[in-house]
Amino acid sequence: MANEDQFKKVISHAKEYGYVFQSSEIYDGLSAVYDYAQNGVELKKNIRDYWWKAMVQMHDNIVGLDAAIFMHPTTWKASGHVDAFSDPLIDNKDSKKRYRADVLVEDYCAKIEAKIEKEVKKAEKRFGEAFNKQEFVSTNGRVVGYQEKIDSILKRLGQSLEKEDLADVKALIEELEIADPLTGSRNWTDVKQFNLMFGTKLGASAESAMDLYLRPETAQGIFVNFLNVQKTGRMKIPFGIAQTGKAFRNEIVARQFIFRMREFEQMEMQFFIKPGTQKEWFEHWKETRMKWHLSLGMGEDNYRFHDHEKLAHYADAATDIEFKFPFGFKELEGIHSRTDFDLKQHEEFSGKKLQYFDHEDNASYTPYVLETSIGLDRMFLAVFSNALVEEELENNTTRTVLKLPAVLAPIKAAILPLVKKDGLPEVAQKIVEDLKWDFNVTYDEKDAVGRRYRRQDANGTPFCITVDHDTLEDNTVTIRHRDTMEQKRVKIEDLKDIIKAEVDVKHWLQKM
Ligand code: ATP
Repeated sequence: MANEDQFKKVISHAKEYGYVFQSSEIYDGLSAVYDYAQNGVELKKNIRDYWWKAMVQMHDNIVGLDAAIFMHPTTWKASGHVDAFSDPLIDNKDSKKRYRADVLVEDYCAKIEAKIEKEVKKAEKRFGEAFNKQEFVSTNGRVVGYQEKIDSILKRLGQSLEKEDLADVKALIEELEIADPLTGSRNWTDVKQFNLMFGTKLGASAESAMDLYLRPETAQGIFVNFLNVQKTGRMKIPFGIAQTGKAFRNEIVARQFIFRMREFEQMEMQFFIKPGTQKEWFEHWKETRMKWHLSLGMGEDNYRFHDHEKLAHYADAATDIEFKFPFGFKELEGIHSRTDFDLKQHEEFSGKKLQYFDHEDNASYTPYVLETSIGLDRMFLAVFSNALVEEELENNTTRTVLKLPAVLAPIKAAILPLVKKDGLPEVAQKIVEDLKWDFNVTYDEKDAVGRRYRRQDANGTPFCITVDHDTLEDNTVTIRHRDTMEQKRVKIEDLKDIIKAEVDVKHWLQKM
């Protein structure tokens, strides 16, 4: 399936099966805002829990926090967001469409990268078993040329953005002859900076109202609470504070479903460390976070690191974990070495000391910070799009199956009476009553059992449990596995253990 078709299929499947709806759809929707429906809310919760378990519960030196979305406005002055949290935008004068200038250039590079991938695929076919990808990409003249071009473009983009040389960003777009992807026009305005924070007001009367921002990241709630948590929790460095919650950004272009939203959820962890140890902790968290991703079994080839050329104002090292979405490799998670920038800024703007007293060194210092920051919605899209497959079956039919990692699936098992009579529904209902203490399960008696299997496959349910006439005799049921479609006869009393073995968080996280 072409990538674009696959992406369309992901969006329509997410709607059809009650995962994601456009916000306020009856009013024609609100751009880049989405609602999670009955299955989506469960998948999202399971992803959040999987992250929380790995980051907080499994680390005795990481604790949680739930800071408010509203923060004192000086927070955003101190953090640098008021002055520097902006993206370079460019308008097309003919189509009146607005773009992120850096994304136009990055998409141009992605096209060259697609050419590299094509060459690699061709060579793979030609050389068969003997093919060595590493050697090919470093020696094939055409591929090396493509790669050099990408590197030099991205380097120049990074440098121009770093120097705030927006005229050069425009010059680059013109030199590369980048056209409006929708209309082909090359009639561009100058590049301007656009601040991404949403403003709002707090207070009843116009005179006394205070200008506020909706937080554009959850991290600052952690920084301003750093000392409260450290003192009340008697935390010793190194330690972390983790938080999940909503963040808001007035994104210039948001056309990629839940990949880039104006209201989204982040899962962030700030790890406070001794100055000078940031390099080793950076490597540690890079590795740990990648292991977390790989534990879900979504394919090693679908991930890669992308080190930043252009560092944000607060960072001394940064990398992204990129995932292969239906529209190509894109950032899924950021890992940033934030130095002592944030705490120092908050000290300066608040006039309060935010230092840590190290008993071993008998000295106070402002800790350095290592951050891991992942978008929950992006993770949802990664999991969901990766799971959706069309499978050719032996009898020349196809089935649509959502192969969600069982630990994340919204519904773990569907209990199906073979027919709607002879006391089978009652037995099935009884199984539901027993299992629902431990798992999210569902009951389904409508349509032929084959149709029900397909419905549960498309819904991502890992197990179907069928009650038939033999059940009445021997207390056994058929359990069918979503991915293998294998069916087994098992005792009702064993169901709980069988399901647990595959959906238990421990079973998955132990792969880390
Ligand atoms: P991008 O370059 O894609 O705009 P970013 O570098 O600005 O992302 P960060 O500020 O590092 O993103 O935020 C951390 C994480 O939050 C990202 O890795 C991403 O998963 C998520 N995220 C950021 N912006 C959005 C958004 N508009 N919609 C959904 N998720 C987002």
